[in-house]
Amino acid sequence: MTDLKTCELCSRQLPLTFHHLIPKSCHTNKWFKKHYTAFEMKHNGINICRSCHNYIHKRFTEKQLGRDLNTLEALLQQPEMVKYIQWAKKQH
Ligand SMILES: [Zn+2]
Ligand SMILES: [Zn+2]
Repeated sequence: MTDLKTCELCSRQLPLTFHHLIPKSCHTNKWFKKHYTAFEMKHNGINICRSCHNYIHKRFTEKQLGRDLNTLEALLQQPEMVKYIQWAKKQH
């Protein structure tokens, strides 16, 4: 059974993967431990397609993602993301 849901970034109907808004590599970092609980770090995430997932990890470092882009809104406001999403929506 394939369960196609809507990607939270590009809004396409594709198999989704879970993206940790605070990447796993940051979970043991002092700064993050001070600002977030282990529960938040583990469960705060978005469901996005493979292609969006690859893009954000190629485009941004884990620190950038964890510190500055740890909400869906923040990600969607990045000029690079806006451009990428416009492009992704035209793909099949
Ligand atoms: Zn997507
Ligand atoms: Zn991810």
